[in-house]
Amino acid sequence: MAKVLAIANQKGGVGKTTTSVNLAASLGATKRRVLLIDLDAQGNATMGVGVDKGALEYSGCDVLLGDCTLADARVRCPDFKLDLLPANEDMTAADVGLQDAEQGQLSLKKALAPVIDEYDYILIDCPPSLSMLTVNALVAATGVLVPMQCEYYALEGISALMSTVGQIRKSINPGLEVEGILRTMFDPRNNLANLVSDELIAHFGDKVFNTVVPRNVRLAEAPSYGQPVMAYDARSTGAIAYFALAGEMLGKKPSK
Ligand code: ATP
Ligand code: MG
Repeated sequence: MAKVLAIANQKGGVGKTTTSVNLAASLGATKRRVLLIDLDAQGNATMGVGVDKGALEYSGCDVLLGDCTLADARVRCPDFKLDLLPANEDMTAADVGLQDAEQGQLSLKKALAPVIDEYDYILIDCPPSLSMLTVNALVAATGVLVPMQCEYYALEGISALMSTVGQIRKSINPGLEVEGILRTMFDPRNNLANLVSDELIAHFGDKVFNTVVPRNVRLAEAPSYGQPVMAYDARSTGAIAYFALAGEMLGKKPSK
């Protein structure tokens, strides 16, 4: 059965989408069957794999609100060896609709059930909030991957996420694991970044991925071409880092 990873951090701009798109493409390149789910109304992951969010027949919103199946809405992206459940600004309506729905937190999990065996990895790009959409991702997930920038307030933000993870584990998804914490946009010449990184390791131990994603302009440029970085510049330090992250994940023994 697929490993389902919620890529989550309620702080904005920490590299959730960059990680979702590039880890999905890296895993696809290793012949794993990958589904990338965009749960953010910004639709950045959708555009990041070259899909026009303005021209969707169905989107993740329709799936979450029960108006179509996931199979109806998914888009095949053979160039990047992955499938996409796309999103656009309609996702805001799904967030509101799920708050009112009975068992609204289970919607994504239910939608995934019929296709889950078609994939090895399902990566969910979460919005920058602990909204109903993020809750849906955490309920459907087997693990949570937390990208974070090594900045002053980073640890504070992570504790709110960890407490949500704890609540969901206690109530509805006891198997939810912390897959790992990923240091993103890392600049080793920055003293504060090194201090925060040390603190992270002291606090979370081997939950911190060994792989560190450096600040790399190719990672920032690739989305404007609708491409993961490995298609845009496979030799960039950004591409190498995300390949290494996929390797590190695949090398880990399954936790269950
Ligand atoms: P949001 O919370 O708005 O969804 P996010 O957490 O998904 O944001 P991204 O969109 O992945 O964050 O990244 C924020 C910005 O930083 C983007 O412009 C992205 O291209 C850039 N970026 C991400 N990672 C890197 C990196 N390692 N090096 C350079 N730029 C990066
Ligand atoms: Mg994002």
